[in-house]
Amino acid sequence: MQDTLIKNGLIVTADETMQADLLIVGGVIADAGEALDRPGANVIDAAGQYVMPGGVDVHTHLNLAVGQFKVSDGFFDGTAAAAFGGTTCVVEHPSFGPEGCSLMHQVQVNKQEAVESCVVDFGLHGVFQHLNSQTLDEISSLLSEGVSSGKIYLTYGGRLQDPQILSVLNQAKRSGLLTAFHAENHDIIEFLCQRFKDENKLAAKYHAQSRPDYCEAEAIYRIISMAQAVGNVPVYIVHLSTAAGLLAIEAAQDRGLPVYAEVCPQHLLLEDSCYEEPEKGLQYIMAPPARKAVDGAALWKGLKQGSINVVATDHCSFNFADKFTHGKNDFSRAPGGIPGVETRLPLMFSEGVLQNRISLNRFVEVVSTAPARLMGLFPRKGNLAPGADGDVVVFDPNMEKVITPNILRQNADYSPFEGRLVRGWPTTTIVRGRVVVQQGRLMVEKGWGQYISRKRCLKPR
Ligand SMILES: [Zn+2]
Repeated sequence: MQDTLIKNGLIVTADETMQADLLIVGGVIADAGEALDRPGANVIDAAGQYVMPGGVDVHTHLNLAVGQFKVSDGFFDGTAAAAFGGTTCVVEHPSFGPEGCSLMHQVQVNKQEAVESCVVDFGLHGVFQHLNSQTLDEISSLLSEGVSSGKIYLTYGGRLQDPQILSVLNQAKRSGLLTAFHAENHDIIEFLCQRFKDENKLAAKYHAQSRPDYCEAEAIYRIISMAQAVGNVPVYIVHLSTAAGLLAIEAAQDRGLPVYAEVCPQHLLLEDSCYEEPEKGLQYIMAPPARKAVDGAALWKGLKQGSINVVATDHCSFNFADKFTHGKNDFSRAPGGIPGVETRLPLMFSEGVLQNRISLNRFVEVVSTAPARLMGLFPRKGNLAPGADGDVVVFDPNMEKVITPNILRQNADYSPFEGRLVRGWPTTTIVRGRVVVQQGRLMVEKGWGQYISRKRCLKPR
């Protein structure tokens, strides 16, 4: 493999910012320093641009199918979109498998498909959808397959009940699995949805009202309490969306409990008034829903101060056409989920760094280093130290774009951030030393992405 030398850029990591060249040899970071030279290397001029560890998005659904609906991407288009957006590694949350299937089933099915299609590296989460003695035994097989985290849902068909959650947490503590949670109170949501149905309140805005903030806060508080009962076992809250939920997390962290949180750009940037947009309101159907401005402000603060550790996307690109066809007469029938893997870095830079909500180094930390650490990808991913994978994004902090579906590589027919002017966009994305995207072109074949066997969770710092 040809060596790569990135010249004249400003290297930005979670810890430091320095003017230096970066050398990748054999797919691995070899050196950083002034005026590096390497005969025969592919030289990339990054003058005026940032050179950062590639983005790590630890919450995607690139290959999800739910009932009659399937996301529009698949692993090829989904990871191409990731690469266009400066992300070099994703960790996929598989959907629920066939009823009664083993814990390994969805991991194996997704691994096989992903390995043939991905253009960036990938890992897989486990998913709990029922519990029996076999499931608990299988947790150790997950870990030996490099799947060091598993998700429990507190809502949807495959949700677990509290006694089952306690059993999983107990086994997770023994084996070292990081348990991730979709935290919403299922019964309250069902109750409210039924009430809205009875009252013929079926417009998109009732989607948000059917999943109020206290549903999330209650679920988070319950999860933390169970983790505490089991013996302070680490838990990871995916797509945190409310100030009330954050309060529960911060109270636990203040008591020294290992509770980690992830936030998504949609909960930092969208507000629930979006559901009132005529027709387009259905675009934003997702769970948790868009919240209030006060929630967004609290989440930004948590991200800055460190009580929120990770920015991921929950990328789940059901088409607007499907959402509209099925949801126009009843919000609850629209498939839930939005695309976002391609716009995460530009949005977080433009809205986070340039709006002085987070520092430049904190930006790199939350989109790359901290998720890599928590999900057992570090030190291969999430940093530019010698020996790390040559996963690099060259990012032009002055490039301006207005987000529209037309300028994106994703396969979805809309973007929830359409019309937004952002400043800062990736220009080159490199995975293990190979240029995957340059000047808006995909440069590798399907299958360049490798499965990454993940190690145990490391604390973010
Ligand atoms: Zn998700």
